[in-house]
Amino acid sequence: MTHRTDLIVVGAGIIGLATAFLARERGLSVRVIDAADRPVGSSIQNFGHACFTGQADIIQEVAASARAGWLRAAEAAGFWAAESGTWIPATTEAEMQVLREFADHRGPEQVRLLDTADVAQGIGNPELTAVGGAHLPLDMRVNPREAAPTLAGWLARNGVEFNWNTQVTGVADGQVDTVRGQFTADRVIACPGYKLMNLFPEIAERHGVRVCTLAMSLIDRPARIDQSLGMLTGTSLARYDGFAAMPGVARLREELAEREPELVGCIANLMVTGIDQGLLIGDSHAYDLSPEPFIEEDIAQLLLDRACAVLGIEQPRVRQRWLGSYADSADRNLVLEHPDERTTVAVVTSGIGMTLSFGVAELALDGGQVAGF
Ligand SMILES: Cc1cc2nc3c(=O)[nH]c(=O)nc-3n(C[C@H](O)[C@H](O)[C@H](O)COP(=O)(O)OP(=O)(O)OC[C@H]3O[C@@H](n4cnc5c(N)ncnc54)[C@H](O)[C@@H]3O)c2cc1C
Repeated sequence: MTHRTDLIVVGAGIIGLATAFLARERGLSVRVIDAADRPVGSSIQNFGHACFTGQADIIQEVAASARAGWLRAAEAAGFWAAESGTWIPATTEAEMQVLREFADHRGPEQVRLLDTADVAQGIGNPELTAVGGAHLPLDMRVNPREAAPTLAGWLARNGVEFNWNTQVTGVADGQVDTVRGQFTADRVIACPGYKLMNLFPEIAERHGVRVCTLAMSLIDRPARIDQSLGMLTGTSLARYDGFAAMPGVARLREELAEREPELVGCIANLMVTGIDQGLLIGDSHAYDLSPEPFIEEDIAQLLLDRACAVLGIEQPRVRQRWLGSYADSADRNLVLEHPDERTTVAVVTSGIGMTLSFGVAELALDGGQVAGF
């Protein structure tokens, strides 16, 4: 039996759901097919941090449409999305220098430099020792455990067909083969995330796509720290392309190698976000085609210690730990390919898929591309 719609989306992570949301806005009939019985991939394992400002200059237009998409989806589906920005305490002069350069580069609409008292108040730690900091007001927060599942539920109640528990085995020329039969559509947009290798191995291999695993934890959130907290640190400044393009980053990297060799050793991006259930703390990065599932306790504890030191939390109660996974490529942030006229493959191959989701969905629907990203 075949079932026809205008568009089939493979994958009900945030990239696939954002694509379904925008396609529905455009009046298309949409079917979403996913191997799982609800969103349980990268899109619920992350910080829920939409870090538009820290991304590279060349992707800022896509980031702006992603931001607009998040706001429309949150309003329509009724999930929490805070326009609370990102707080970045600078613990050393080298970190502050990068923030000054970034503020000069992007201007006050995007980057506000802060004194120690203001950044201490922003992160909810009056005892913070810092030389200053910055606030990025355009950045947003969502709860990753709520956003994708709520959006999927809303789409299902508003005309989008869902086939859960349905592994897709092949996609070509508007035809989708699954373990439960065949579906057809004018167009298919495949958003399989870190399982790209299973569905389009040639594309995955050509771009060196592998799985990045990250040690994460959820701890109790003291009342003085807001649920909408989004906090980056010095390791984030050395990592995100927008900050990392600043001249002062070379000095910061040298300093981090001397001051925090263990964080550098586990390729940390030390950051914290709040959700109603607590504080999300991470993360380290390890790369493999088929990662082992084990969490290194030393790394998890290191991240916890450093994050709690910044936030002034003396005895954190750890409620959960997990090893998150996302698709990564060493040479690009986005795989956006058209293997045939009716098929598009859209995978964010860097830890910024929540941030860019609705922007990437728009590119996928419009047949757009971002050269050099
Ligand atoms: C710990 C961690 C922290 C992160 N922090 C951030 C952050 O702060 N900000 C940010 O912007 N990004 C962050 N990311 C990255 C972000 O989570 C991902 O880039 C994003 O969620 C990818 O979304 P996706 O829809 O491509 O993948 P997924 O959410 O993994 O969804 C893919 C879906 O496709 C389905 N699927 C795959 N293959 C098939 C098949 N053959 N048949 C049927 N269904 C299939 C899967 O079942 C899955 O539901 C983080 C990621 C992790 C793991």
